[in-house]
Amino acid sequence: MESETFRLPVLGEELDVDAELLRFEEAERAKLGLSLDTDHWYDKMVDPQFTARERATVTLLVSGLTAAQDYLVKAALTGIGYKVEVIDVPDQEALRYGKEFGNRGQCNPTYFTVGNLVKFLVERSQAEGLSAPQMVDRYVFLTAGACGPCRFGMYATEYRKALRDAGFDGFRVMLFQQKGGLKQATGEEAGLAMNPKFFLALLKAIIAGDVINGMGYRMRPYEVEVGATDRALEQTKTWVHDALVGGQSVLRALLRGRRELAKVACDWTRPAPRVSIIGEFWAMTTEGDGNYRLQRFLEQEGAECDIQFVTNWLLFMLWEGRYDTNLRAELRGVDEARKSLKNVSVGKKLAGLFVADLGIRAAFHLFGACIGYNGYKLPDMDEIAETAHKFYNNEVRGGEGHMEVGKFILNVLHKKAHMTLSVKPFGCMPSSGVSDGVQSMITGLYPQSIFCAIETSGDGKVNVQSRVQMFLFKARLAAQKEYTELLEKHGLTAEQVSEFFARNRRWGSPLHRAPHAAQGTAADRLEEVAAYIGKSPLQARLVEARVMARRTIEAARALPGWLARTRKKLVEKSPVLFAQAREEWVEARPIIVEKMKSRAEKTVARLRRREPPQAQASV
Ligand code: SF4
Repeated sequence: MESETFRLPVLGEELDVDAELLRFEEAERAKLGLSLDTDHWYDKMVDPQFTARERATVTLLVSGLTAAQDYLVKAALTGIGYKVEVIDVPDQEALRYGKEFGNRGQCNPTYFTVGNLVKFLVERSQAEGLSAPQMVDRYVFLTAGACGPCRFGMYATEYRKALRDAGFDGFRVMLFQQKGGLKQATGEEAGLAMNPKFFLALLKAIIAGDVINGMGYRMRPYEVEVGATDRALEQTKTWVHDALVGGQSVLRALLRGRRELAKVACDWTRPAPRVSIIGEFWAMTTEGDGNYRLQRFLEQEGAECDIQFVTNWLLFMLWEGRYDTNLRAELRGVDEARKSLKNVSVGKKLAGLFVADLGIRAAFHLFGACIGYNGYKLPDMDEIAETAHKFYNNEVRGGEGHMEVGKFILNVLHKKAHMTLSVKPFGCMPSSGVSDGVQSMITGLYPQSIFCAIETSGDGKVNVQSRVQMFLFKARLAAQKEYTELLEKHGLTAEQVSEFFARNRRWGSPLHRAPHAAQGTAADRLEEVAAYIGKSPLQARLVEARVMARRTIEAARALPGWLARTRKKLVEKSPVLFAQAREEWVEARPIIVEKMKSRAEKTVARLRRREPPQAQASV
């Protein structure tokens, strides 16, 4: 019940006693310097506001993937109307800032990424003479976030803490999933319009970055002139960048790049050890001090890097979605949690995830085909999960989850690389548990494997590099042995092979990919061309026809098995999907039959009404 204001009749007038008392209290407080601050403090950084009106004046800062991808993400967002700037790949100085302003006991990627943002703001404000509030007004940081279960869920909080302590209180850190709606708390249109156009632009940039990076890692170890691949790639990146900014075809830009890359001369007779890099997502993806510039170091040591693409990570997230939906579907009716499937069509959700997976794979292969990144098989996430399941529960998440274990085993079983290198950041619980714990058991089971786990703490670079060199020595010997044995098997010399590649541009092209036959690229190529060396053009054509026929027969033989396996997998993996489809079919069937019947009746009626065609009047 609302209390009524008491009004005291004084000299014929009614006096509001409460208001008078309040006025008196305020006057006295003012006299004594005790004025009350009634504005309650709230953490603006928790709910950052970036409005559509600010798009023209506020710059979005992006960083965190590979250099190529950051550069192309900038282009993609610029192309759809944002002001964007890339923060350089984190270095030692970024780590120093991270340690100074971050909480104690964080994992290494947190220090590097958080410190990198603080470093950028400090250096930019000093260079341009801008105050902290001006920096807060002019910049917004855009990054990915998650709810855990590892420290990834704490990144946003870490950013806030470090930024506040560094003097940038109120700085806006926007997470991709944060401002999906059109309106924000202020009622204004949100600055980040997270619509299909936005995500499509990002996807294009990420996939284009992946295939560009893939070409680089495939070609650099074999290039004849050092730096030639990088020059061609720089040119390609610029073309793709300009296409994204100008809203033109990225595919055409990649095709242009392909022509440039095709000119790079490579020596495919070098048996470089192939090193598969796995581990924690950020630590294995970054190209800076966060992993001691590991990829470039390996290349300097003569190795070929087999990296994990960001696309693979997207596929893993879709796999997680499918896996969890299948499990949650069994709880329908009792599960009331935030992510429950209450009022959600399980069939449609699974179908959506399936289509997204298919779409991403198709886009990757299309982009790959344009630039010349052929013969790459994106990982089968179900196969990885099944392979790892015995050793690491598929429901344990955080970091790479079971992927690290599954990838290592598949590397050994399918002879994908000479060596597997696992990168685990200091302080990373999921990755350390896998690299130091489970993988030790796997190496025991597969003693033929060469497995090296390194911890990245930011310091101890020399120790880490020396450890890698020790394992690389074994991998190098393995690659050399594999190649020499193949030469002996085919009765060839390295000179003959080299001469063959020089004379046959098609086989020696950097855009060509030989079928997987061995652990190394040089051995794969040798195995492919051995049958043609020393043959006349006619004999070579006959060999080629025989190879084609053999492959066609093998493919035809494998088809029924593949279909049966796919069917079995679908039935096993998606009982819910089938049950749902059956349920929906039972419901939809009478409606469809009814519609078809009514359409047929209408057609018949129309035909009956139609007059027989008039005889043509003779002229
Ligand atoms: S996976 Fe490890 S390194 Fe990565 S965010 Fe989680 S705890 Fe940190």
